[in-house]
Amino acid sequence: MTIANQKGGVGKTTTTVNVAAALAQSGLNVLVIDIDPQGNASTALGIPHHAEVPSIYDVITDDRPLGEVLQECPDIPGLWCAPATIDLAGAEIELVSLVARESRLKRAVDEHLASMSDTTRFDYVLIDCPPSLGLLTVNAFVAAAEVFIPIQCEYYALEGLSQLLNNIGMIRRHLNPRLEVSTILLTMYDGRTNLSSNVADEVREHFPDNVLRTQIPRSVRISEAPSYGQTVLTYDPSSSGALSYLEAAKELALRSAPASASAGS
Ligand code: ATP
Ligand code: MG
Repeated sequence: MTIANQKGGVGKTTTTVNVAAALAQSGLNVLVIDIDPQGNASTALGIPHHAEVPSIYDVITDDRPLGEVLQECPDIPGLWCAPATIDLAGAEIELVSLVARESRLKRAVDEHLASMSDTTRFDYVLIDCPPSLGLLTVNAFVAAAEVFIPIQCEYYALEGLSQLLNNIGMIRRHLNPRLEVSTILLTMYDGRTNLSSNVADEVREHFPDNVLRTQIPRSVRISEAPSYGQTVLTYDPSSSGALSYLEAAKELALRSAPASASAGS
């Protein structure tokens, strides 16, 4: 699942790490792939990602097996991360001249998943994208089956969304026919403002089947957690932010479960 929105600061990374943490805490094996040169997801998961660390850069540009760069999150067993280092900032340009430049991440992920046994396999792979529609994001779209779009409950939220959807349509036509927008999550919801509820209503009206019922409130605890190298689920498990991400992850898991498994729950 690729977490994407070319708009910056809408909660992509926060959503990736907290949903991943919630899924892992419930006993699932989860992999977060950080393909944003900013490395924010790696930071939030407490994963070292200074320049010398083997990273997703080596996987994408140098064919290094994905398994060689994975690190387990120190606080949450079962949660793994392929970190991004600052080297990745150059990858956008380096990729242009490489063979199969759009599908390098897909190949690495598919090869790794095929090499895993049933007991160690990942239940979810979440890819945290940079705020652009460049080749790194294209690699994420090609590697994934689903797109998960976080939308910030602010006035400009819907601007740019049609461009994102057009791009996804283009990827579907040319590179990855199975790709679909499966999930939309409203983030940084501020219940005190009409603006937040108006934006939320509008998004729900446009995408009635995709928007999770759970909305993530604006919460100081959520924004503090990364500075301690933690997700909000370990930083302050009883905060409204942690509870809402747990709820969102539960919704997600129930939606993606086969109909027979989720029936009656
Ligand atoms: P970028 O486009 O730079 O990758 P992003 O889409 O990944 O950004 P985040 O880094 O997740 O966005 O969030 C942007 C900022 O907003 C961060 O400082 C984060 O801590 C803060 N933030 C995210 N979600 C919330 C929330 N629900 N309440 C308060 N602050 C939040
Ligand atoms: Mg980010």
